[in-house]
Amino acid sequence: MTEEIPEEASSESPPTPDSPEVAELGLSAVHLQLYKLLYDLRHTPPTMLQIRAEIADGNGSSPAQTDRRVRDLRDYFLIDAVRDGRNHRYQLRGWNRDRNNGLRRALSRRLRAQVLAPQRCAQCGRTPTEHHVVLVVDHKVPRHWGGTDELDNLQPLCEDCNSGKKAFYGTYDDYANEIKEAANHDEPHGRIGELLKAFQGDWVPSELIGVVASMKQYQDDWQKRLRELRTLGWQIDFKKKKDPKSGRFLSSYRAKHWEPWPEGSIRAEISRLEQDGKQ
Ligand SMILES: [Zn+2]
Repeated sequence: MTEEIPEEASSESPPTPDSPEVAELGLSAVHLQLYKLLYDLRHTPPTMLQIRAEIADGNGSSPAQTDRRVRDLRDYFLIDAVRDGRNHRYQLRGWNRDRNNGLRRALSRRLRAQVLAPQRCAQCGRTPTEHHVVLVVDHKVPRHWGGTDELDNLQPLCEDCNSGKKAFYGTYDDYANEIKEAANHDEPHGRIGELLKAFQGDWVPSELIGVVASMKQYQDDWQKRLRELRTLGWQIDFKKKKDPKSGRFLSSYRAKHWEPWPEGSIRAEISRLEQDGKQ
């Protein structure tokens, strides 16, 4: 898919942190906090020490994590390191409009229009005309978890649903790298299994498993894939409890024991074991 540079990106000033363009980047809460800092201080750019003091101390991130997050933001924004004596000051200039090295940018106007065309929130069904909601483009799988800008990873959500989803996903941002890694597995069994392993015996909510299971291709029946891991010798617990707030039942899974992956296809190995079991 060819992507156009949005016209607004030709403006030199960086977008405000609460603008729809920034919301649609799907940044994690910490990245957004960092962007806000750089934006607020764009005329008096901070040093890395100041950035670390502002961002890292607040949420317990290491200096290395903070450095990495500044690099992450450079995928989207032009952030100059300006020399000042022995330090560098990090100055936010605007969008990163470098087209040649495949960095991610704001979505093109055409793509946004295509996603928003149904004019209905994909989650709650409310519409701008009837319910006066504002629709934004949402990444089903967040970008920082490895989600793409392809049309099938994008959906229209109203601002309420979008912020609710962000809050839910935000609680798992500490696992972003593990989730990305798990999502890379070619087979759904591998994606589910690696995700459970990443949580090291902690409970993983169904909603998250469903998202990661479907990352390479949509999984209608990921629960069945998950149960099939037991055929490989995995021990997986299941629990269901009522969320006092919403009254909805929330289910989660955890792996108490896992086995190494078979040499070839996981699916083939599972069918082989199932056939053996029947004989
Ligand atoms: Zn909604």
